[in-house]
Amino acid sequence: MRFFGLSLGAEWFDEMPMRCIYCRKRAGLMRRVCDPCGRVIAVVERAGGEVGMAGLVDLFVAEGLTREQVDVVLDAQPGGEPTLRDRLTSNMANALMRGLGMPGRQSPEDVKRIREAMKDGGAGTWVKGEAPPRWSH
Ligand SMILES: [Zn+2]
Repeated sequence: MRFFGLSLGAEWFDEMPMRCIYCRKRAGLMRRVCDPCGRVIAVVERAGGEVGMAGLVDLFVAEGLTREQVDVVLDAQPGGEPTLRDRLTSNMANALMRGLGMPGRQSPEDVKRIREAMKDGGAGTWVKGEAPPRWSH
């Protein structure tokens, strides 16, 4: 589509103009992300996955964000990319493995694949809140 003479090919724009890519609420003119979702992302980027999920929750609370607002952003999958939660999980798992002297090369795509396999009834034993199991490549 064309907009102010600019060609914008991204699908989200054709599909949901002016809506937040995470929560699908109105984000404002020419904005892809609404205020609360933008704040969730800012917190995640600042923390960089190094503080762990519990530390992140404290930061979200300090920002006045609700669990619903946080979850919708962490679990959003714009364009089928790994979610922010996948990226965080991968960061945390790698930090953990490096701390144990292991390489720690789990990518967000690995996390996404495992998460989707588990959702489909795979033999996952990963209990929420526990450290992810070690797997080999
Ligand atoms: Zn939003």
